[in-house]
Amino acid sequence: MSSVLSTAPTGLAALPPGARQLLRDSCLIDGRWQAALDGRTFAVDDPATGATIGRVPLMGAAEADAAVAAAGRAQQLWARRTAKDRAAVLDRWAAALRERRADLAAILTLEQGKPLAEASAEIEYAASFLTFFAAEAPRITGEIIPGHRPDARIMVLRQAAGVAACITPWNFPAAMVTRKAAPALAAGCTVVLKPAEQTPLTALAVAALGELSGLPAGTLNVITGDAPAIGRVWCDHPAVRVLSFTGSTEVGKLLAERGARTVKRLSLELGGNAAFLVFADADLDAAVEGAVLSKFRHSGQTCVCTNRFLVEDSVAEEFTARFAERIATLRVGNGFHEGTDVGPLIDDDAVAKVTGHLSDAVGRGAALLAGGETEPGSRFVTPALVGGVTADMRVMTEETFGPLAAVARFGSEQEALALANNTRSGLAGYLWTRDLARSWRVSEGLEVGMVGVNTGFLSVETAPFGGVKESGLGREGSRHGIEEFLDLKYLCLGGIG
Ligand code: NAP
Repeated sequence: MSSVLSTAPTGLAALPPGARQLLRDSCLIDGRWQAALDGRTFAVDDPATGATIGRVPLMGAAEADAAVAAAGRAQQLWARRTAKDRAAVLDRWAAALRERRADLAAILTLEQGKPLAEASAEIEYAASFLTFFAAEAPRITGEIIPGHRPDARIMVLRQAAGVAACITPWNFPAAMVTRKAAPALAAGCTVVLKPAEQTPLTALAVAALGELSGLPAGTLNVITGDAPAIGRVWCDHPAVRVLSFTGSTEVGKLLAERGARTVKRLSLELGGNAAFLVFADADLDAAVEGAVLSKFRHSGQTCVCTNRFLVEDSVAEEFTARFAERIATLRVGNGFHEGTDVGPLIDDDAVAKVTGHLSDAVGRGAALLAGGETEPGSRFVTPALVGGVTADMRVMTEETFGPLAAVARFGSEQEALALANNTRSGLAGYLWTRDLARSWRVSEGLEVGMVGVNTGFLSVETAPFGGVKESGLGREGSRHGIEEFLDLKYLCLGGIG
């Protein structure tokens, strides 16, 4: 298996001294760093080596309840602060993230595995949500509507919804925290947050910097531990008014069902199954670069990753050959090693899913054109490419979430759209063409929340991120992202005039 050879330090030894100061082995509730009530902890490991790198509290229902109580007590005081005041705290938090970018990136690479340069880019991405929503706080304005009677006026207020419960995944352990916490706090909500079990250290470090930036006790509470127990408490608790979840569609549906009992406002960013359409008139070199970015960034573990490459018949052979050549240049290795393009997968289940999809495709007649190698016990898989894929294969019907590119063909624009939309997911889609009219037609025809036209990269804090169909509800980022945390209240003023 090809890999990046280096003697640079890895594991805990790779952490700069500043990063060690940001490591936490306790959780933040009501402004105090606390252990689990029963003292239990769980181990966090380095996906590159499997070695344990730390332990964090294994909290459950009681601590989840305590976190909501703290957030509830803090909420009115926080919401009554001026928007400028709340913004100033978020701006300080953003500055702290930027100042400690190298330290945070090292923690992120250590527990998550992505190459250090990608981790560093994620810290800036995380800070960008704080900066954006700090600026958005003073723009939470209402409206005045002409009265329905001569003596009446109608006013609309936009008010903080209350306590927001946020549950985040492991693939963007810093950015998913701020993509939720920044708009919630800017709106005047307070937050209880649970990061994924694989990546709690980054979330706790980001929270520690929030505390140091002046977030009052109880405004941001972060607990780690038993996900189903914590999720049940937050779904059932009447004081939690918003449930904001990013993760798998399966868990999103569970939370939506449970949250219905207390009529929670839901914001769900769930799984995808993105199609990447290459038309015959596309700039093939650019399409190949876009394909590499969209498929292999973060080892294929992003929700907007391409899952299905659909290429027009007349250029399918050429596109696939150039893609295979480019894939062969990608270097697999430890995220701390200079030159690594593709790091390890997050855990053994992730490796099993990729290899399972690969053997299913090959078993049903697809051709293995590159990579797909792994070693027993290793979480590294070399970037893989399969051609001649058909609609019944698992690579087409399920989100692979790993470094496996699957290429199928189409004959017409209608067929391309039908294939692309043949899924219950609807997060992202990509298309490559030089034909302006087609780019509009196909963008409008794709059943997704986000479309990349001649680009393989979509994520930016100024754009509304989110899906349709079973990929979710609501949007994060952009001015729309704050609406998830605001209630409209209408006042009817009589006796005027
Ligand atoms: P996951 O298994 O659904 O986990 C996500 C979070 O939910 C984790 O914090 C997890 O906690 C928690 N969780 C698991 N079971 C729960 C339960 N019964 N009640 C409450 N919380 C529960 O997803 P994942 O494997 O970490 O993430 C990968 C998925 O996320 C992919 O499908 C990807 O497409 C999607 N994703 C979507 C977006 C988007 O914006 N649309 C962004 C990133 C990822 P534990 O870790 O402690 O189990």
